[in-house]
Amino acid sequence: MTTVHICPKCEDQVQISQPARLNEIVECAGCHCELEIVALNPPVLALAPEVEEDWGE
Ligand SMILES: [Zn+2]
Repeated sequence: MTTVHICPKCEDQVQISQPARLNEIVECAGCHCELEIVALNPPVLALAPEVEEDWGE
């Protein structure tokens, strides 16, 4: 089953497969940002820090 949440960046709907895990990363289909599950009861999504190749110009 999945639950539906709201992307904190673009406010599109984001589906999370349950059971979700804390700190799991999901991708928003609307803005393609990575979202981290920072709480489970109730589930809360936060923008995941970009630590990969997106730094620099
Ligand atoms: Zn989004």
